[in-house]
Amino acid sequence: MDPVAALRQIAFYKDRAREDSRRVMAYRTAADIVERLDEAQREHLGRTRGWQSLPGIGPKTATVIEQAWAGNEPDTLTALRAAAQDLGGGAVRAALKGDLHLHSNWSDGSAPIAEMMAAAQQLGHEYCALTDHSPRLTVANGLSAQRLREQLDVIDDLRARFAPMRILTGIEVDILDDGSLDQEPELLERLDIVVASVHSKLKMDSTAMTRRMVRAVSGGQANILGHCTGRLVEGNRGLRAESAFDAEAVFTACRDHGVAVEINSRPERRDPPTRLLKSALEIGCVFSIDTDAHAPGQLDFLGYGAQRALDNDVPVDRIVNTWSVDKLLAWAAA
Ligand SMILES: [Zn+2]
Ligand SMILES: [Zn+2]
Repeated sequence: MDPVAALRQIAFYKDRAREDSRRVMAYRTAADIVERLDEAQREHLGRTRGWQSLPGIGPKTATVIEQAWAGNEPDTLTALRAAAQDLGGGAVRAALKGDLHLHSNWSDGSAPIAEMMAAAQQLGHEYCALTDHSPRLTVANGLSAQRLREQLDVIDDLRARFAPMRILTGIEVDILDDGSLDQEPELLERLDIVVASVHSKLKMDSTAMTRRMVRAVSGGQANILGHCTGRLVEGNRGLRAESAFDAEAVFTACRDHGVAVEINSRPERRDPPTRLLKSALEIGCVFSIDTDAHAPGQLDFLGYGAQRALDNDVPVDRIVNTWSVDKLLAWAAA
């Protein structure tokens, strides 16, 4: 077995199982290190069992490499595969054709664009949008207009490699306090998918928050309203209450302006809460089930979001990422 593939698969299963992402990174770093070696170097290290002499390879990753090098599936990988659970979603998960919200290490994701896309391809996605953060979110290394333009060139160079999977360009753009979006309008216009999310002043009063969100989804540039309440319900980032806003007003504006309400699959978010999901459904909104992945293995979180759609009887034809890429892009451009 190829040691590089083994290390990456282990990282995938660990991310998917929500292990500490910094520890998981050690496996991906080790994969990068081995990948850079030429055949002669690999032969030498394999014969002398000298993998740990490489900076960045520790006892655990060295064992994986040795076992793979000897032609066996590493024990760690076998154990992780056996322990991997179905993340749910059933028929809804099966109908999903892609993911419209995820991050690379250009902002606060932990993997390069190509690695995220390789994982998406292996999951069988027909399309996948890259949506890194916008400038104002400096804690997440949000992309300036200039860096976003550079990223668009990088994506162009990657397209052929991942065809027929379609890489869609995108952004998770901050909804600023006044409801305007945190990126140049011409640039937003160029992107395939614009996810608009509130990341600051989540506690502003309901009237102001409602005005802010309604403006954001009514301006003709947003396609998806990301994690609408901002709540955190579990996990190492702590808990956070929902933002207060007039859900009927916001979801009505989403419906009227063709903006999808995101069902955010991250287990610590579970956003929107069930009562709001039901409200958006009643009002007639469409939905996008997204992972908001910050690591390759998290791209499999779609099952969590799909399960929530299933539990709440969201019709599959109202989930935009069950649509064909042509239908999706026509909707997003309208
Ligand atoms: Zn976000
Ligand atoms: Zn995000």
